[in-house]
Amino acid sequence: MRMCTVCALKENHPGIRFGDDGVCSLCTLDVAGDLMENFTYTKRVFEEFTRSGPNPHGDHDCLFMYSGGKDSTYMLDKFVNEHGKRVLCYTFDVPFESVHAAENIRLARERIAATFVLDSDDDTIKAVMREVFNRTPAKPGTYLDEKLPCVSCRTFFVIRAILHAFRHRIPYIVLCADPQQILTMESDVREVVRGFYRTFGRRLADEFFRGELERLLFADDDELPRIVFPFIAMRYAYDPDRIVAELKEKGLYASSPLETHCTLFPLLNYYSFLNWDCMFYKLNAASHRRAVRRDENRHRSTFGIAFPRAVDLPAVEERLKRVVLDIAGSRGEPAAQERELIELFTQLDATEDAARFVARQFLDLRETAADLGVVLRGGGAGA
Ligand SMILES: [Zn+2]
Repeated sequence: MRMCTVCALKENHPGIRFGDDGVCSLCTLDVAGDLMENFTYTKRVFEEFTRSGPNPHGDHDCLFMYSGGKDSTYMLDKFVNEHGKRVLCYTFDVPFESVHAAENIRLARERIAATFVLDSDDDTIKAVMREVFNRTPAKPGTYLDEKLPCVSCRTFFVIRAILHAFRHRIPYIVLCADPQQILTMESDVREVVRGFYRTFGRRLADEFFRGELERLLFADDDELPRIVFPFIAMRYAYDPDRIVAELKEKGLYASSPLETHCTLFPLLNYYSFLNWDCMFYKLNAASHRRAVRRDENRHRSTFGIAFPRAVDLPAVEERLKRVVLDIAGSRGEPAAQERELIELFTQLDATEDAARFVARQFLDLRETAADLGVVLRGGGAGA
């Protein structure tokens, strides 16, 4: 198995090609063209949005997707208090988040003048996840396929938000993806919907959204909301530590080291190992490596997740794969597995407490899968 000499992605990673020099298409400029096109479009929409006047069709200028995390809290404050936008603040309650950002949402409600809406649909989002996890994906796959469950969850609630904005004639949707996520995200509303149809097929897509999706495909362009990524404007200045410091000063942030931790994280790793022979965060780790190679003096990555430079990623990944597939197949000794997981997560820069917490979740993989109705498949040791 060849591995990219720059970023350590494997040759069979979905959506990646290798050159004769052993460097992958993400490290050469093969995909940069697409990414730049997406970037130019989203930048234009953002500028249009900041210049736009009040929405003539209703009380809100934008629907703001609010998770309670630091990025969206920071932007929400800016839009309401600096840009004077009339904001409908939309939160989808994702049932898989272990630490609901409830405290931050409460602080925001107290201090920021916006309309807050809390949406949820546990049964449907669980059905979406069950569907993705229980399928065997087609090979060789496309870019981000190893993250399909995660992408599908997010796409599901982004479409819920799109429908909400569409029904209430709100012209813009604000999405606070961090700068790396933006470059891999679909910014055109119809494309988001088409992508969902492609993944799930018409019957399931209609079932999940109760037949409402077609209205988006056949609507006039000016009836459709447009997606705005405000972090575009800060692309080169994204600094998570500064964001947190500023929020704390304003009394808008109660931090937790496990902030947006997803309880499906072990299951997501099982999925990516089983189907794509990589850990869930492989692309993040690879892009971190790439950035460090390009600029040795760079102390901060612009990405949400940092990976220590010294760590031997391929070795950590191999060991993690073995433990995860063993747990899935009821093999091995839980106490030893817990020790090994804690050691691996500590190598990946987690604190001792965080490593212990996440290790426990991995040991519960089978229960998590059973709760969701996911059938764990094969994956014999060393497969
Ligand atoms: Zn590479």
